[in-house]
Amino acid sequence: MNKIEHIGIAVRSLQESIPVFESLLNTPCYKTEAVESEKVSTAFFQAGPNKVELLESTDPEGVIAKFIDKKGEGLHHVAFEVSDIRAEMARLQTAGFVLLNPEPKRGADNKLVCFLHPKGTHGVLVELCQEIKEGE
Ligand code: ZN
Repeated sequence: MNKIEHIGIAVRSLQESIPVFESLLNTPCYKTEAVESEKVSTAFFQAGPNKVELLESTDPEGVIAKFIDKKGEGLHHVAFEVSDIRAEMARLQTAGFVLLNPEPKRGADNKLVCFLHPKGTHGVLVELCQEIKEGE
């Protein structure tokens, strides 16, 4: 894996949390994007070399809504950048990790993504992400 690409934070309201993170990081939110398949709206911040993603559920039955019901707002996942997501998924599956989606899917911010089950990673929800290049 190349680096931590971003960290994901579950929030109840983007409208309320965006100004807080703009103030915290001292940088404007550079992008908001809905990801229909995940039932989330996302907001992105760039703090130096690091990215922060806020996630708000668009559906009371969505994964972020359920997460907040159970654990409250807060750190939701750590995303690692990979160069070849399919190769990395195969490697991790062979190593015994449980993939939450068997095929890479389209995530926010022009990425192919795959999540690993937190039961296999000591409680951390891990996202793999690979930049989608032109023509893919
Ligand atoms: Zn993410």
